[in-house]
Amino acid sequence: MSTTTILSDRINSLSESATLKMTKLGRELAAKGINVISLSVGEPDFNTPDHVKEAAKKALDDNYTRYTPVPGYPDLRQAIVKKLKEENGLDYDISQIVVSTGAKQSLSNVILTLVNPGDQVIIPTPYWVSYSEMVVLAEGESVFIPTDLDSNFKITAAQLEAAITPKTKVFMFSSPCNPTGSVYSKDELEALVKVFEKYPNIYIIADEIYEHINFVDKHESIAQFDSIKDRVILINGFSKAYAMTGWRLGYIAASKEIAAANDKLQGQTTSGTCSIAQRAGIAAYAGGLESVNKMKEAFARRRQLVYDLLNDIPGIKTNLPDGAFYFFPEVKSFFGKKDPEGNLIKNSGDLALYLLNYGHVATVDGGSFGNDNYIRLSYAASDESLTEALRRIKEALAKLA
Ligand code: PMP
Ligand code: GLU
Repeated sequence: MSTTTILSDRINSLSESATLKMTKLGRELAAKGINVISLSVGEPDFNTPDHVKEAAKKALDDNYTRYTPVPGYPDLRQAIVKKLKEENGLDYDISQIVVSTGAKQSLSNVILTLVNPGDQVIIPTPYWVSYSEMVVLAEGESVFIPTDLDSNFKITAAQLEAAITPKTKVFMFSSPCNPTGSVYSKDELEALVKVFEKYPNIYIIADEIYEHINFVDKHESIAQFDSIKDRVILINGFSKAYAMTGWRLGYIAASKEIAAANDKLQGQTTSGTCSIAQRAGIAAYAGGLESVNKMKEAFARRRQLVYDLLNDIPGIKTNLPDGAFYFFPEVKSFFGKKDPEGNLIKNSGDLALYLLNYGHVATVDGGSFGNDNYIRLSYAASDESLTEALRRIKEALAKLA
């Protein structure tokens, strides 16, 4: 992290997004003519469905080109209410929905809305890279609950309770999880809910952006438990389910008070998100789940492919993730080894850079997700790219001595 006196303490204390940094480094190598396979950024490698693109073109022709209401067009928010009811069995009113510039902004808005300086935010590790940094921006304090391969990267109710202090304001998690793919079952969620029932001042941010990429069960939302629903801030968006990462469309469903606060914050910072993207979002939800299910089929096949290839690499340990499109294999057996030029691999950051520079495969270090013994691979890439990437990784790792 570089610090200067020109910039605020706030920005000086913030780390660069590791997912975006590794993607940038990969692009820079590729620009030099090197054939780099990117397994770093987590985004579907599919195109946005045609009916969604058509809706965006029509939106332009229909002159949806002006400022939108700050929390989103009412008919988009109504479509979200309908989706939450039909797909998740959850009841919300449109006054409880705020649409933002991606789920990333939704999360950031919520953290800024809830967290005072010094408030604690409990985050199970590994977590998505931006969670802890959003807490830094809000001048809160992250309290991490460690998990590992042996617990399938999930926390228990006892671990949750042990992490709670009088300063705890928020608990924040994703299921299916980025980066581990872990999915909490209804019973596991219920056990956590029993703890939250005892602590009525804790708010729960439930990031469900990967809900449809779940290979084991139907998606279970923690917002289904009435005893705590008012304190749940549900995060979702269109990036993963509809291959719409560039459109920047996400939302929250929350209590009216929290939704109104997010609306106020957004009204002073970004205003409503892109009008055309919002019209496209309506078409995405109206079109149903056909395209999502097609993507899921491809992800299921690739998951098995990568699992088999990873298990064929000496020194790597992995589980079979239940959801999302990432593997988070343990790589600590390579720490302490040297690359062919004699450089020591001390941690996951060194290993990820080695794999990029020598193997020409972009991954992300586990340290940025809160656990340095691992690296993250996105398998949202073609079967051919994945096969070649895993071949390169195996070859590069075999050169470490
Ligand atoms: N949450 C998680 C867990 C994610 O992986 C992502 C992907 N970047 C986001 C939120 C944000 O998604 P977006 O801003 O593209 O809607
Ligand atoms: N969610 C993706 C990832 O984790 C997108 C990149 C980002 O916004 O961090 O790679």
